[in-house]
Amino acid sequence: MTNTHCPYCSLQCGMTLTAAGGARAALEVQAWPEFPVNEGALCRKGWTAAGLRGHRERLTTPLVRDLATGELRATGWDEALDLVAGQLSAMRSEHGPDSVAVFGGGGLTNEKAYQLGKFARVALGTSQIDYNGRWCMSSAASAGNKAFGIDRGLPFPLADIEQTDVLVLVGSNLAETMPPAARHLDRLRERGGRVVVIDPRRTSTADRADQFLQPVPGTDLALALGLLHLLEASGAVDEEYVAARTVGFDDVRRSVAGWWPERVERVTGVAAGELRELADLLASSERVMVLTARGAEQHSQGTDTVLAWINVALALGMCGKEHAGYGCLTGQGNGQGGREHGQKADQLPGYRMIDDPEARAHVAAVWGVQPESLPGRGRSAYELLDALGTTGGPKALLVFGSNIVVSAPNATHVTQRLNDLDLLVVADMVLSETAAMADVVFPVTQWAEESGTMTNLEGRVILRERAAAPPAGVRSDLDVIAGLATRLDSPVGFSVEPEEIFAELGRASAGGKADYAGIDYARIRAEHGVFWPCPTAAHPGTPRMFADSFATSDGLARFHAVGHVGAAEQPCSDYPVHLTTGRVLSQYQSGAQTRRVRELPDNGPFVEMHPMLADRIGVIDGQSVRIATRRGQLLAPARVVPTIRPDTVFVPFHWVGANRLTNDALDPSSRMPEFKVCAAVLTAVPVSVTTSGVVPEVVGA
Ligand code: SF4
Repeated sequence: MTNTHCPYCSLQCGMTLTAAGGARAALEVQAWPEFPVNEGALCRKGWTAAGLRGHRERLTTPLVRDLATGELRATGWDEALDLVAGQLSAMRSEHGPDSVAVFGGGGLTNEKAYQLGKFARVALGTSQIDYNGRWCMSSAASAGNKAFGIDRGLPFPLADIEQTDVLVLVGSNLAETMPPAARHLDRLRERGGRVVVIDPRRTSTADRADQFLQPVPGTDLALALGLLHLLEASGAVDEEYVAARTVGFDDVRRSVAGWWPERVERVTGVAAGELRELADLLASSERVMVLTARGAEQHSQGTDTVLAWINVALALGMCGKEHAGYGCLTGQGNGQGGREHGQKADQLPGYRMIDDPEARAHVAAVWGVQPESLPGRGRSAYELLDALGTTGGPKALLVFGSNIVVSAPNATHVTQRLNDLDLLVVADMVLSETAAMADVVFPVTQWAEESGTMTNLEGRVILRERAAAPPAGVRSDLDVIAGLATRLDSPVGFSVEPEEIFAELGRASAGGKADYAGIDYARIRAEHGVFWPCPTAAHPGTPRMFADSFATSDGLARFHAVGHVGAAEQPCSDYPVHLTTGRVLSQYQSGAQTRRVRELPDNGPFVEMHPMLADRIGVIDGQSVRIATRRGQLLAPARVVPTIRPDTVFVPFHWVGANRLTNDALDPSSRMPEFKVCAAVLTAVPVSVTTSGVVPEVVGA
């Protein structure tokens, strides 16, 4: 019996795995009630997580593309590692170290993320490394750094939700994406607190709300400006707090002066009266908590949108106050830790910046190399993929823990870039859509077959324990990294032992913003996780931040005056509706894992639309509809519901297709693509494809 954590989202629910026996050494998932974050509750993805163990599509031998047939064929580990290392060495000699790129994932353990960053900078010497977490919460990270001087998704435990007075959820469908967390909303309301949900769709989270605002996609920023306008006009700003704990409010005060409610209504579609109602509620409440998620963040103005909501929380004097403040609900399992330890293009372990001389000297000393040998900052995730195979761009890509073909924006273009590579190497447990394109595939362990730490959405470092041996022929990502590093004549060695790597990570992070130096596996086990920063073994960890000061040079939070620009692509006569994308309860991210779990429904994508829009284009519920944007098109059944705005359609992104539609316009600060809104056109298709289980055709670009 092993206490561990779910393989999927950032809640990292605790669960117990026991051996269920059988030929495939199956595991059984049971509740772990003592783990405080989920208290034994799991969503259906968690309960069925062991379904991938022994799956018939599980890869158990390395694959190499046969030059004669063009097909992938089985090979041995040494042959595959030798082949990849040989080609990488040749490329580096001929074209320089930046001809090789690395792409990581927000689901990798801290140990893997750390080793991957070190491998790129030391063994490959490349600056070209980034990861799919750039597409998750990087706008909130960027805003948090600007406003508070640090990026920890939630600066307080999730359970603080229950003790606040008003919870404002901006662009979060928490009840579907992390159902065990929804009990905090219920308990808050039982206490008499209020829940406000802001979303273009009336989701099951919105069904639990006391007030629901339904803005046009891409206008959350304008909504925040209008809200602060009203709070300022009514005298609700906590002037004493603003003077004592912040700087920059005068500029913000001026910037919101022109955002009267009727102007906000014209931009956002939210009635002026509803905005006034919300402003009155916030003004009369002792404790207000604002949480953003991808709905507010995945925009070309994502950073500014989050800053606008942080401005609201700061103006009310909430940040640093107990059971109040601002936070971001991170999405991927290790979305938080994955961005702290070096797989991001501009960072070194401990959330150190790669162009900071002191940071380089510290990390280089831990790694046993010269600071000058470390490369500088590389390209962000989308820019990296967009450069593949181009003149001056990388010619080889190593992918760990990411299914780019499904999850990248403007995916047809990105897939073409992958085709342009001289060498694509993918480490995965199944032949994902990206692995199927690779020249070499390494079969790697899954969560229950390896140990490693994750950092959940609260900044709580938790330990996923190995519960079973991997199938014969399967190795860890850490083995792949070490095997390649040795063959590339790395100047330093790479351990394959997670606990040893974590100890090194602790030393590398010591003194940094995300300081893990005082955390070890034994302590995590004993304390049900430890909150960073935790600089020494005697330090209690930091569940709540900002009580006395912020992580800026002077300890003061920063207001930022931001302006509404709107989505990069607005509806027009050719593309008249807004398209937004997101998740459904039974699937996770690119679906590479959950689509293969038999117990989870997999009916393919759909196009959710309002009855008024369906009438206008002549579509009935279940009928096939073609949705097109300037980048691609998709054929899928219509799902006609009254809960979405009539000017907006929604497509889930767990299958190939949705991201062929999405826009690659980037936020200038976070480099986050605008996944959450673009302009689209719908056409009714006469033939119905709605019979249960029929997977709709992807039409392509
Ligand atoms: Fe897993 Fe997230 Fe579901 Fe919890 S809420 S069981 S972590 S997918």
